[in-house]
Amino acid sequence: MTRSASLYRYRLPMDTGVILRGRRLTERIGYIAELREGARIGRGEIAPLPGFSVECADQAGQQSLHALKRWVAGQDIMACARWPSVAFGLSMAALELQGELPITARYQTVPLLSHESVNAGAEGAAANLSVPADCRFAKLKLGRGSPQQDAINVSALLKAHPSLMLRLDANCAWSLPQAREFARHLAPAHVSRIAFIEEPCQRPADCLTFSKETGLALAWDETLQAAVRQPDFTLDTDFRLDSLSGANTLVIKPTLIGSVQRCIALIRQAQQTGTKAVISASLESSLGLTQLARLSCWLLPGSVPGLDTLSLFRSQLELTWPGSTLPVKLLQQQTRVWHS
Ligand SMILES: [Mg+2]
Repeated sequence: MTRSASLYRYRLPMDTGVILRGRRLTERIGYIAELREGARIGRGEIAPLPGFSVECADQAGQQSLHALKRWVAGQDIMACARWPSVAFGLSMAALELQGELPITARYQTVPLLSHESVNAGAEGAAANLSVPADCRFAKLKLGRGSPQQDAINVSALLKAHPSLMLRLDANCAWSLPQAREFARHLAPAHVSRIAFIEEPCQRPADCLTFSKETGLALAWDETLQAAVRQPDFTLDTDFRLDSLSGANTLVIKPTLIGSVQRCIALIRQAQQTGTKAVISASLESSLGLTQLARLSCWLLPGSVPGLDTLSLFRSQLELTWPGSTLPVKLLQQQTRVWHS
């Protein structure tokens, strides 16, 4: 069957308050690869995240273009997909083209509670936070105020919403003494209602110590990304989750981790050691988010993904995320940088 392909470069304006590793992100730049074979179409999003991805958008675009040209000529699309964002987007497009990515998605996600709304200071402030009705899980970022204030906010939230479970994320903000201070101010009864805390400390070893001392379930995010970035990292032979053992959950951000096949292998390895996995977004557009929702529903049917990032955008791309009222920009309105 005849193959053809297109590569689109999109630019989507962001909400004003998006700061990544100290830099304001005013627009999101990424690529959509579109594969066609006969009547079939497969798309994938390639969107390196500034401050987190090793590659920049231009590098990812060039590598994607190279891979698409080879694919149209009959070669394996993954042969030269080295950057994680490229490997993820192209593998997703190939999977969709082959009809292997199930259409079914669960669009339920874990709402990210806005930091401003819980940072009012007084203990009662967090209790007034609008947690969506019927919400069983919510996510809260920590580490921007004092550890003590964070603990007070968490306790107030859990007290005000007796059936709520929290996912916490400190993004490596604390030293071990600071993490201990957080735990000291947390009500002991609330520890089991914290599904996990991502990366409490700067050093992974301190995260493990903290988790052992406090009984708070630990999740790896940045540490997992760092592990897969090692130059000698090969999933098939070398990679063991041993170095990451002791955690309750792996937070898998495919754009930062790599191909769908690599994500699947990670999930399988995690499951073999009794570790949970959660698929999470790296500020993909509504197109990429929708595919992540499908991926999560397929690979981790019992897990609610962390995809509550669309409200950080000012528009969606091509596909409407259920319930979102943001305007939708069409792919055809974006720059088509290449077409075979
Ligand atoms: Mg995280």
